[in-house]
Amino acid sequence: KRNKAGTAASIPAKGRAADPFESLPEYEVLRLGQALSSITGVASPFHRLHDAKAGEISFIAGQRVVNFASYDYVGLNGDPRVVEAVKATVEKFGMSASASRLAGGERQVHRDLDITLARLHGCEDALAFLSGHATNVSVIGTLLGPSDAIFCDALVHNSVLEGARLSGAKRILFPHSDLEALERALRLNRARHRRALIVVEGHYSMDGDSPDMRELIKFKRRYDAWLMVDEAHSVGVLGRTGRGIAEEQGINPSDVDIWMGTLSKSLSAAGGYIAGSSALIQILKYNTPAFVFSVGMPPPVAAAALAAADLMLREPERVARLRKNGAFFLAEAKARGLDTGVSSGAAIIPVIVKSSAYALILSDRLLKRGYNVVPAIFPGVAENQARLRFFVTSEHAPVHITGVLDAVVQELETIRQEPSYVSQVVG
Ligand code: PMP
Repeated sequence: KRNKAGTAASIPAKGRAADPFESLPEYEVLRLGQALSSITGVASPFHRLHDAKAGEISFIAGQRVVNFASYDYVGLNGDPRVVEAVKATVEKFGMSASASRLAGGERQVHRDLDITLARLHGCEDALAFLSGHATNVSVIGTLLGPSDAIFCDALVHNSVLEGARLSGAKRILFPHSDLEALERALRLNRARHRRALIVVEGHYSMDGDSPDMRELIKFKRRYDAWLMVDEAHSVGVLGRTGRGIAEEQGINPSDVDIWMGTLSKSLSAAGGYIAGSSALIQILKYNTPAFVFSVGMPPPVAAAALAAADLMLREPERVARLRKNGAFFLAEAKARGLDTGVSSGAAIIPVIVKSSAYALILSDRLLKRGYNVVPAIFPGVAENQARLRFFVTSEHAPVHITGVLDAVVQELETIRQEPSYVSQVVG
């Protein structure tokens, strides 16, 4: 049977409506979450509305809270000097670049930012993109294709996994920071593929640990692979002046082929970037869809990141304060018997509570006591790895840290005395 247009009329049947969004399983899961929240009185910890710049202190629903959910690691978001740079740039260029950088959207501030990022990482060149997530997705997809293989640490960011998936390359995950497993995977698979890419993070956003770069560099040489390091959480955090894992571990930046970073964390703006050799950056400038076919970064956003990068490098005491706070948090958490996993105590310290219900309830109760901490729950992490994720900044005071840790211990104790409540809720 043929329809009027002459095409086979099997699907869709005439008059059949497309699936309503309410029938999608994703929607069902959300409804279940809302129902659970109204039964337990535990509000969702996601999309909490902040009415402030949300550094170490924030305001949620009129309540002042000590905030452990900000990536503003070195306290530069809203710094008056950053704000001045933004104001001057918005007055000169307006908000939008109004075109792709390739085709009329390029401004001097973009070039200045690229050069500063290249210097920050000790590389020949760099290129800033509109979003960190899009940087990973689009760059990986530009450099690799179906005849290649990508070896990723199992805990790399979603953007790397998405990029790997969309590239069509074979995606091989190795258990978190298990470099022996990585070597086995390289030995077994490398020869069957044209190009190989190893991807790790300089500082892992879930666990707060770092890989052994010297070992990784050995492997990339032995197996003719490119090495890519996502420095989203390393800049401003690792190394004496916040230049990341190369500075922290004393490796030569040119031993890593692709440095990736974000402007949304220590650099107090938004966007992503790649730093590396001039050949790499030239290729990306003319081939990466997220760069070529997308508008240039808003000039004031580039100006914010540029000012923040300059300030971070000129004021290394910010990094020192952050590291002192991180080490203090880790020591105090351990002293209270809390499970901080493999965190090195630089800036990201999880408190693993081994149950999504515990993590949700804890987050809710901490908020009522004036602390904003976001949980990571199943399926984002394995159920027995459910946790609260603490992001420490250079601006936290010791009393913020001891205060929240005491509150965690007390609330955990209370929750654990309510087993029937939790088991009724979670089944
Ligand atoms: N890489 C890592 C490791 C991240 O944690 C994130 C975001 N948190 C990104 C990339 C994406 O960066 P952005 O939020 O700047 O898009």
